[in-house]
Amino acid sequence: MSPREGPVLTLAARWLFPVEGDPLESACIDIRGGRIVAIGPREGRLIDIDYGNAGIIPGLVNAHCHLELEPLEDDGWKLGDEPQNEVEWLKQVVKQRWLTDPESYAETAIKNASQLVKFGTTLVADITTAGASGPALVETPIRSVIYAEIIGLKRLRAMTTNEAAWAWVNAVEPALKRDRPTDGSFRQQIGLSPHAPYSTAGWIYHQAVGSGMPLTTHLAEMPEELEVLEFGTGPLKEFLEEIGAWPGLEEWKPIGHKPLDYVRHKDLRGADWLIAHANYLDEKDLWQLSPAALKPNQRVAVAYCPRTAHRFGHRNHPFRGLLERGAIVCLGTDSRASSPSLSILDEMRFLKAQNPDLAGSLILAMGTLFGAWALRADEFCGSLKPEKKADLAVVALPNQEEVNSDPHSLIFDSDLPVVATWQDGELAFAMN
Ligand SMILES: [Zn+2]
Repeated sequence: MSPREGPVLTLAARWLFPVEGDPLESACIDIRGGRIVAIGPREGRLIDIDYGNAGIIPGLVNAHCHLELEPLEDDGWKLGDEPQNEVEWLKQVVKQRWLTDPESYAETAIKNASQLVKFGTTLVADITTAGASGPALVETPIRSVIYAEIIGLKRLRAMTTNEAAWAWVNAVEPALKRDRPTDGSFRQQIGLSPHAPYSTAGWIYHQAVGSGMPLTTHLAEMPEELEVLEFGTGPLKEFLEEIGAWPGLEEWKPIGHKPLDYVRHKDLRGADWLIAHANYLDEKDLWQLSPAALKPNQRVAVAYCPRTAHRFGHRNHPFRGLLERGAIVCLGTDSRASSPSLSILDEMRFLKAQNPDLAGSLILAMGTLFGAWALRADEFCGSLKPEKKADLAVVALPNQEEVNSDPHSLIFDSDLPVVATWQDGELAFAMN
């Protein structure tokens, strides 16, 4: 149905946060044929669904996620506990992966995908290792970019995971091309994910860039990564040795001695990269992700995972410096193995609590429009704007008459849940 056909559905709420534009009090949004037709004051309008004391926001974008991962067994870590050592945590994740059978990956992915809908997510960037997140996401209305993970420093391991990733790409690509909507939007896209500089051979990065597909990688995640890249020593190297994954300094030829070399090497420029974490970028290197340092039409963004960074004691994320230089920083949850939930709303609230001076409008943009930009979906979603897809979330607001100067605080200084998710103008989730 085209946006100009069919009945108009009008939703209203106490506040509407379009992201591109100021918040509107006592507002409504008109939807027709899956798209937004108009937003404006509700006065004098006939309302189909009145959400009352709630905020209507664009659907949330989770820009870094691994739906196939479960919480670690006996994981007692909670927000507020002492930080954990990430290399020690990584050992447990690897052990758990070795013990997981393929059916349970599928079950976990389905369970996690249904959680995303309840958390108001309408677009997700997911990394698949077992091939289970694609089928799980197809069962939901959520849009997704699914990246096949490639991992291995030793040649055989790198070749094996590379072949598996390409087999998956070749298996799913024809159907995706066939079913691709003709209106410029997408339901599912695919890409590649070389895992990280400390775990993945340089030639995999070169080949991934050559593919022309959307790419994501974990970069500058922990101090141990900086050490192994610079000197070939330290706890990460010892861990890789322990699991038989260290190739030896003879075989390992890192692309460079700094994490950003993996996306900025002269032969690797021009590709779209979604950089997960980037907790440890040098202040003096931040310019490298600014628009002026990129090729025209290239999109490179950082997916910051605030609660996961906090779990491992990675403080002082350079997101402010990146944003000041015009780089795009969006938000991810990472997996349930590190994060208490897959909720971007919870990530935004955590970020606000850690950075009380940060403008609510910026935090909301990081959780919506900026993620959509990183995934080349901002033309049709990520903000509430006429002609864009009606992808939105409705968040309950506290009973608070007085609103301080920033109405976003009604969303962020609260723990009230998402009460409805709309995707393509259809109700995808409603709280009973
Ligand atoms: Zn990750």
